[in-house]
Amino acid sequence: MSEAGVPGGTPCHRCGGGGFYYDPQIEVGRHGELKICTCVEAQCRCGGRPPFYFWDDQARNQRCPCWPARRGLVELKRLFREADVPERYRWKFLGDFHATTPEGSLVRIAQDARLYVSTLTDTDREPERGFLLHGRPGTGKTLLGCIMLNELILNRHRPGRFLNLSKYLQQLRDTYSEESEHYGQTWRIIESLGKVPYLVIDDFGVQRGTEWAKEVLYDLVDTRYAEKRFTVITTNQPLGELQQLSQGRIYSRLLEMCRLVEMEGEDFRQHLQPKV
Ligand SMILES: [Zn+2]
Ligand SMILES: [Zn+2]
Repeated sequence: MSEAGVPGGTPCHRCGGGGFYYDPQIEVGRHGELKICTCVEAQCRCGGRPPFYFWDDQARNQRCPCWPARRGLVELKRLFREADVPERYRWKFLGDFHATTPEGSLVRIAQDARLYVSTLTDTDREPERGFLLHGRPGTGKTLLGCIMLNELILNRHRPGRFLNLSKYLQQLRDTYSEESEHYGQTWRIIESLGKVPYLVIDDFGVQRGTEWAKEVLYDLVDTRYAEKRFTVITTNQPLGELQQLSQGRIYSRLLEMCRLVEMEGEDFRQHLQPKV
């Protein structure tokens, strides 16, 4: 993609040269939106109308300078749609939570969370390790996992997925049913999830699962391990129980792939920026 902004000048401070950005400002609805940057709008000669061509002074039909940014934005929106993040977490980013209370005291868990997310996006390198977010319900694990996923998609423009484990297992079961639209696609589903660059597996644990479910879970974890793909796992299952799964094979893989984070104490969701 060509860089937006002044030709030969420094990249635009708002969009970093990509030509689009996430604007957290809320005007309609409950979240901000992905927008074309003003630096692109300033050069646009097509009025922002697809297919983004314009007639120049010699009556030649030209591709508009806005074209790469507008295409990039469409692509990014598609990535966010396909990530399947639950609606209430779909537009949550690092800027959405505070590391201090209104009184000014520090919230340790929120501070740590900010740090974890920043390490994912502060460098050009792909993250080497994922996170195993462990703690009782209501500690903000899913929110943190979604923020990590959203920030990675926003900054790296690569695909990611949010996976609800029970839905995943159901989807796989359906692939054995001839009536299902996913009939016969078992391996296609496992493989695509095994390879997607960023994956959040929410509510991990199959304490009542069948041997089949455990095996399927191991396959997914093992594929991601082999592919060295960034994975975030959230779970409230006691670690002792996770260790029991598949004779410890799943847990040992997870510890190699992920940094274990104990999410205890207060719920850092209380420190989300208020949406008005
Ligand atoms: Zn810009
Ligand atoms: Zn244009």
